[in-house]
Amino acid sequence: MAVRHAQRRLIHIANIFCNLFHQCCVNYAKVDTIFRIPNGTVVTTLNTIFLSGFALYPTGPMRIVKPDGNSQFSIVMKTLFRILYFTGLNVIAVAAVAHDGHLHSESFNEGSSLRIWRNTAGKPIEEGSLLVVHDHSIVLENRGGDIFSIERSNLAKTDHAIVAKRLEKTQQINTQPISKFGVTAGVDVSLQLSPTLGLMKNSFGAFASKLKTHSDGRYFFVESNGIPDHRMMVGITAWQQQVPIPQPYTGDNAWQIPLHPLKASHPMSAKKNFFRGAIALAANGIPIFNPIKNDGRTDTFTAGELDQWGGHCGRADDYHYHIAPTHLQSIVGKVNPIAFALDGYPIYGFNEPDGSSVSGIDPFNGHTDKNGGYHYHATRTYPYINGGFYGEVSEAGGQVHPQPRAGGVRPASRPLRGARITDFNGSLKDGYRLKYSLNGQGHSINYKVLDNGSVRFHFVDANRQLTEETYEPRHRGDGGERGGRERRSPRGRRQRN
Ligand SMILES: [Zn+2]
Ligand SMILES: [Zn+2]
Repeated sequence: MAVRHAQRRLIHIANIFCNLFHQCCVNYAKVDTIFRIPNGTVVTTLNTIFLSGFALYPTGPMRIVKPDGNSQFSIVMKTLFRILYFTGLNVIAVAAVAHDGHLHSESFNEGSSLRIWRNTAGKPIEEGSLLVVHDHSIVLENRGGDIFSIERSNLAKTDHAIVAKRLEKTQQINTQPISKFGVTAGVDVSLQLSPTLGLMKNSFGAFASKLKTHSDGRYFFVESNGIPDHRMMVGITAWQQQVPIPQPYTGDNAWQIPLHPLKASHPMSAKKNFFRGAIALAANGIPIFNPIKNDGRTDTFTAGELDQWGGHCGRADDYHYHIAPTHLQSIVGKVNPIAFALDGYPIYGFNEPDGSSVSGIDPFNGHTDKNGGYHYHATRTYPYINGGFYGEVSEAGGQVHPQPRAGGVRPASRPLRGARITDFNGSLKDGYRLKYSLNGQGHSINYKVLDNGSVRFHFVDANRQLTEETYEPRHRGDGGERGGRERRSPRGRRQRN
């Protein structure tokens, strides 16, 4: 028995290295390889394999499913080989070379090279190479390295055949007997296939010019300055005199979304919790707060607190939404989520990704799709967005923890009753002008972020009286809304220069 195990082990290891040597060198820095292991699927990069392959392989046999037939050697692989050979693993190294690796490259390359996938009418959908086959969809990678998915029901017959073949081979490889080595260190969760990584890349990728993203296997990180590309503020009729200024959602203050959402044993409703901070992150890197504000009862949308895009600014002059930013749908594309809840589950717009209407959603605005994955939807009425967390989140101080902190420059302001924001123009570079009417008279705030990070405000009242105030950047503070602290006077009562 021990001998058989040893043999199999050797063959498995030989398979691994054979495939590494023969197929993976070309794209080794990309997501290009699918591992099957006894307890799940792994999609990882060759970088990850290099770093973690040795940690991974003792946990059980693994087989590389997706070679792409290209056999260019890389220096890295050669080096790896040398290290193996000269560190006493020469048996493995020799076995790797001796093994006929082409078996796998021939057997598992269905769809793995770039091809144009077509819909049922034969029209091209997109060019891509097949990465993963799910029950109802396939995941592809295009020439530029973007990951995207296509519903299998939308595929042309010929494409179906390719998918079926790939499935067959995958099943075959997974049903072959696999030995266990008794080492049960477990597989790092970071190596298991994230059900949402591709979606996140799609959605946040639509705003690649203004966001920075990366992932560490557990979280997808989004860095943003908190300023959306669309206009802001117009339409607000209940205003706290805050205006949008850039936010330091970068580095260790970046947004983070779990790559492996976990169903909570006790899902928490946003009706009773999370009145502070964000509960979701929109695809453009703008946080989405609970539609109910911090008093625990006011619906920000019906109260007139939100602009035409569903947002407004918090105490740190931090712009955020309180309802689903469905206007992003046309930018991310109808098949992609417009946001992700901070428990990791995607938030789609008013419709399903295939365009059909939404049915059977729970009180959190979510449901389980035909693939068994959970997602939320936008709705036109409360809760508008995820009405809580189906998945696990940590809560601290009334908000999801951890999450970035906003960075204000000035004390929070008070509501300016009767004010209505009528116009907002400008840019971060040139400064902004916000116009509002109060008691039938026009006022404006002109402000600009200076090179040193301080913000200069010009408040112009109905009599064209000007008040100038400049604020240095403060430490990161609380964004959003929070009650209880004395706030500054309304603008009208301020002393003028
Ligand atoms: Zn749905
Ligand atoms: Zn708010």
